[in-house]
Amino acid sequence: MLDAARCPKCNEIFIPPRMFCPKCRVKLENIQVKGVGNVLTFTTILVPPEGFTPPVYIVLVKLDSGVNLLCNTSKSCLHFNKRVIVTKIGDKFIAEPHNIFYVAKKKLKTLLRRREKTSAQEVPKTPS
Ligand SMILES: [Zn+2]
Repeated sequence: MLDAARCPKCNEIFIPPRMFCPKCRVKLENIQVKGVGNVLTFTTILVPPEGFTPPVYIVLVKLDSGVNLLCNTSKSCLHFNKRVIVTKIGDKFIAEPHNIFYVAKKKLKTLLRRREKTSAQEVPKTPS
């Protein structure tokens, strides 16, 4: 979950949270939003500012809550529409692959393969 602020008047969500809505000029309420969304676009910075080790991978993520966030990421997330999960570490937003289902599927396949292997080994039992 990410700290955010919502305008009670126009419902716009701001990440990171701020005090007032720039449009409505009313005080915002603090909320939490899920850091899950899709990659809108991405870039690779080969000559980054001082303090960063190149290459720096950047993605623009559209969260399910509608907020767009610039995030640091790894090369594996540089795909349009890639499903990612965003966490905040220090003052940086980090996007990682949101692949729980992928992992679950992979585990299931491995399990099934293992089962197949075991049963295959049991089959050629020849009477001695
Ligand atoms: Zn507003």
